[in-house]
Amino acid sequence: MPKKPGQLVSFDLKRPPGFSEPLFGLDAESLSKLLVEAGEPAFRGDQLAEAMYRQWLSEIAEISTLPLPLRSRLAAEGWRIGRPAISRAFQSVDGTERYLIEFAGTGQKNQTAETVWMPEGDGGEASEESDSETKDWSRATICVSSQIGCAVNCQFCLTAKLGLQRNLTAGEIAGQVVAVLDRHAVRVGRERVNLVFMGMGEPFLNYDNFMAAVRLLVCEVGLSPRRMTVSTSGIVPGIERFAEEPLDVRPRLAISLNAPNDAIRGEIMPINRKWPISEVIAAVRRVPLRPRERITFEYVLLGGVTDRPEHAREVARLVRRSGLPAKVNLIAWNPGPDFAYSMPSPEAVAAFHQLLMREEIPATIRQPRGRDIFAACGQLKRTVEG
Ligand code: SAH
Ligand code: SF4
Repeated sequence: MPKKPGQLVSFDLKRPPGFSEPLFGLDAESLSKLLVEAGEPAFRGDQLAEAMYRQWLSEIAEISTLPLPLRSRLAAEGWRIGRPAISRAFQSVDGTERYLIEFAGTGQKNQTAETVWMPEGDGGEASEESDSETKDWSRATICVSSQIGCAVNCQFCLTAKLGLQRNLTAGEIAGQVVAVLDRHAVRVGRERVNLVFMGMGEPFLNYDNFMAAVRLLVCEVGLSPRRMTVSTSGIVPGIERFAEEPLDVRPRLAISLNAPNDAIRGEIMPINRKWPISEVIAAVRRVPLRPRERITFEYVLLGGVTDRPEHAREVARLVRRSGLPAKVNLIAWNPGPDFAYSMPSPEAVAAFHQLLMREEIPATIRQPRGRDIFAACGQLKRTVEG
């Protein structure tokens, strides 16, 4: 590695004492820039990216493609990979796992987020078969958090009760995925893994970091954006930005509709008073779709509140009038403490589904996963009881 002595000086950039910076989250280009700044050839940045995002190494010391002196210097300078780590795992009887994820260097309480692993998919986002024969799962879905807590305050959601603690960085969002892929030794490109950005938080209120994470996952980790779905409560400026994203890095879109009209939606989702259904749909219509791509409308069934037959007919009309190629994903409300809501009866769920189908609106029922470990939709609140 030819290096002039002068370049070493520029490597010792003035770092404050105790400086400790995660490399995880920087793309190959930024890593190369950093290493060039350090007097190293640019390809060292690509090697670093390869090690973190393809080989899933989590310590600089393990990166055998980098010369030992460089590894030591990076570490001495305070750099570390700093990938988010699974600090606790809770296993459900149905195979679902819920993880508490700890972020490098935060060292503070209330700084964990949650990520969920669902073998066999979740019934709502799933499609074809996989070729895997060696694992006890043939496909899986990872549910990813974008913020710690959430500011949107949907009345039926447990995450809302945390309030917004903070945005996650791109590295912290993508790192959840890599930590879980690593845990399950997933063979990217060969085994079928779907990502849903439906964990804690509102991705479109942390738009830049969310999309930077998607780009890392697509360009560096090698996952396909067609197998990613982002769910939003209907943040119109976010949907408008999303419409501008190039298709090669744009996940699929799901909208949390959750109610048949503005009156009910405004009650259960206060955000509807800012961006009512018509404005959300107008923004969604500006998203250029891939051939055969559909928009998903998620619909949480709250007993007595949103689960009646007249609601189903109204949803069918609303979806039809939107003119969007769409499907409805029904989610029976998952209960939590201190809610005035009740679960819908299984009969109400089935009837709602049938009514939509009869109106020729494609609809699926999302099977609740990991309820026993508080891993199901809307239950993510860092519950430590397993
Ligand atoms: N903030 C985003 C994504 C995370 S919430 C959004 O709201 O879309 C993911 C899904 O879980 C949303 O469709 C939301 O309506 C649903 N959800 C929230 N709380 C729920 C609960 N207690 N039971 C069932 N679904 C719930
Ligand atoms: Fe936030 Fe989504 Fe929960 Fe609403 S449903 S409070 S947007 S996480």
